[in-house]
Parts: sequence; structure tokens; C-alpha cells
Amino acid sequence: MTTVRVGIGHDTHRLVEGRPLILGGVRVAHARGLAGHSDADVVLHALTDALLGAAGLGDIGDAYPDTEPAWKDADSRLFLRETLARLNRAGWRVVHIDVIIFAQEPKLGSIKADIRTNLAQLLGLDVGCVNVKAKTGEHVGSIGRAEALACQAVALIERINP
Ligand code: MG
Repeated sequence: MTTVRVGIGHDTHRLVEGRPLILGGVRVAHARGLAGHSDADVVLHALTDALLGAAGLGDIGDAYPDTEPAWKDADSRLFLRETLARLNRAGWRVVHIDVIIFAQEPKLGSIKADIRTNLAQLLGLDVGCVNVKAKTGEHVGSIGRAEALACQAVALIERINP
């Protein structure tokens, strides 16, 4: 039986006026935030998808549809916590994650460590098993024009009882 598996996740949300900016469960001070049905935490959405993918459990759109009134302005930590519980019930635990946040603005250099610490806490992992990287869009494309933020995540999981 396979004892380790990987999953990949990706998400994009538009950057708009009048919304808070929440990345990896961390409130980030910025003039604009991300548009979405839930709190639009692009990092937690990509990570949740990576975990669902690793465990063969589909995707975040199936699990938490944006047509569901219960998820209006929802705290995306709920999606991650419930997904972790699903993985555990299916016999998996998270080993390591790596995340890239794509943002022209705000600059994330001073915030990456906070996001990393918070993700480690949410996942119940040592901070050394969580990595957070940030890239600008080099002023091209929707990221580079600061119209949107995106995130990619990979997750390694292993069998709890191999
Ligand atoms: Mg999303």
C-alpha cells in the first residue's frame, strides 16, 4: 500500500476595495482585500485543495461550494480544519507543505513568517515542516497589475498506520 502521497492546489482571487485581506489565516493591513464568497483566503483555499488532492478527496469547490449560503464570508480556517479531520478519518496525516503566494502588493517579506507560523499551528506541524514563499508578478499580467492574488500549494501526506 502506498504510504505517502502528494497533492497540489492553486487559487486566484481578485483584489478589491472594501474587503479585508486575509492570507493563511493572518489579517494583513492593506488598502484592498480579496473578493470572494467566503473570506477569500487564497492561501488556505490552495492549501485545502492540495490536501484534498493528496487524499483523493476531490476539490474545494465540491466540498464547499460558493453557492452555499453557509459559506458566505466564512472563515476559511473552517475549510482547512474540516479537511484535516477528513484526512485523519481516511487514515492520513500531513507531513510537510510548501506554499507560494503571488502578490505584486502588498509586499509580503515581513509577513511570510507570520503566515508560516499560523499555518504550522493550524496544521499541527512543526514550523520546519511548513514553508511559505512570496513572488511578485514583475508588473505583468493580472498579478503584476495588482488586480489579483494567487497561491500555489503542495502537500505531502503519509499513512497514520502504514
Ligand atoms: Mg478560492
